[in-house]
Amino acid sequence: MTNHIVTCRVCGAKYPYCYACDRKRSWRGLADTVDHYYILLALMTYRTDHDAEKAYRILHERGLDFLHTEEFIPDVRDRLAEIYSVVHGSEGEQEITDMEVEEQHE
Ligand SMILES: [Zn+2]
Repeated sequence: MTNHIVTCRVCGAKYPYCYACDRKRSWRGLADTVDHYYILLALMTYRTDHDAEKAYRILHERGLDFLHTEEFIPDVRDRLAEIYSVVHGSEGEQEITDMEVEEQHE
């Protein structure tokens, strides 16, 4: 059993990770919590497809507060700010996004 100290790629926290015993939770090699892992996944997807609205929707559904990202590393904060401004930036446009439609009022 070997514990390595790895750094969360989202918040920068350092934590022990064992490649052998954490094999079933291999996401632990990238991030310290599932939430941070999902943020990382969404950002990696965004980096590929540049679909800010999709990334925003995924992260918003997971409860990410785009206005309070102090706990994250600068690279992640920049990316989240970019996604947020793409989605909210154009106030003049009357486009209705999927995001708004998805909020259901039953
Ligand atoms: Zn983290």
